[in-house]
Amino acid sequence: MAGEPRNDCLFCKIVAGEIPATIVRETETTVAFRDINPQAPTHVLVIPKAHYENAADLAAGAPDIAADVLRETQTVADEEKLDSYRLVFNTGSGAGQTVWHAHAHVLGGRGLQWPPG
Ligand code: 5GP
Repeated sequence: MAGEPRNDCLFCKIVAGEIPATIVRETETTVAFRDINPQAPTHVLVIPKAHYENAADLAAGAPDIAADVLRETQTVADEEKLDSYRLVFNTGSGAGQTVWHAHAHVLGGRGLQWPPG
């Protein structure tokens, strides 16, 4: 069912505390933790605790939680003292999505090129 935890999902396991992660923030509906393979000095993932496959499913199925995720990205950026940063929601394997639980990448702390690769 939409939003229910999945036992085959890595990020649901991080939410449940079954897999360790460096958690930087947690709210009732979201968790933010450092990416295991950082692509910038700050690389934090902000996820809904509820399981949705990608940002589009999250926005359609739980718009309030999607808004919580977005708010948390800004709070992470503030706490990391980022004046510029990039938010990325890879959606679909062609765009580089590898974990099928919605997540926002918060990337900053270095100059970022545009267009992205
Ligand atoms: P995607 O490629 O789906 O947009 O992003 C998935 C991200 O999750 C990648 O940047 C990857 O480095 C990160 N990741 C994968 N496995 C783990 C893990 O076990 N712990 C943490 N903290 N990050 C992970």
